[in-house]
Amino acid sequence: MRIRRLRLSGFKSFVDASDLVIEQGLTGVVGPNGCGKSNLLEALRWTMGENSARSMRGAAMEDVIFAGTATRPPRDFAEVSILADEVGPEGEEVEVVRRIERGAGSAYRINGRDVRAKDVALLFADAATGAHSPALVSQNRISAVISAKPAERRAMLEEAAGIAGLHVRRRDAENRLRATEANLARLAEVLADQD
Ligand code: ATP
Repeated sequence: MRIRRLRLSGFKSFVDASDLVIEQGLTGVVGPNGCGKSNLLEALRWTMGENSARSMRGAAMEDVIFAGTATRPPRDFAEVSILADEVGPEGEEVEVVRRIERGAGSAYRINGRDVRAKDVALLFADAATGAHSPALVSQNRISAVISAKPAERRAMLEEAAGIAGLHVRRRDAENRLRATEANLARLAEVLADQD
């Protein structure tokens, strides 16, 4: 997966629609303290499914919506889109959008289709990235990696190997299997009652 563009609207300090185009090679974001550099990385993590308001430096998830300034009123929603290509075996182009409205929570779309947060998490996990991916190194993260427990390091290695999504699917399949077994047992009881 190669992320080509991040589009933000009403997200934190990015009140007007803004595009960050990521070209081939290295992209640097420079600017004075407080200009919104960390907000860009947070926008990326948020769209990939981050669900901890605290790790977005807020008390509630709605705090990511532009809160207004002395000269501009607050916004009612925030929306961020990630445009990526080289996705999956066919190398398709994919646009993932997350939107949050005051009082209405978050909604996700992949290529214009409404999807669940889990679908977005799986898409990025299969591409060995995601909201908690070690590929996204935020401030203070280096020391966290160094002091990580063996199980956490293993999770990082599995993510780097691109198999994190398989674990989620295995858990899902096990849950479905358990539910089917319970249904079969119940069916056997009903049939036995009829005999
Ligand atoms: P530093 O170099 O100090 O780490 P930075 O460039 O990474 O700074 P950020 O931390 O990304 O800056 O941006 C902080 C700015 O975002 C602050 O000016 C803050 O007021 C603004 N901000 C954060 N949340 C909101 C919001 N919901 N509405 C409006 N502005 C916001």
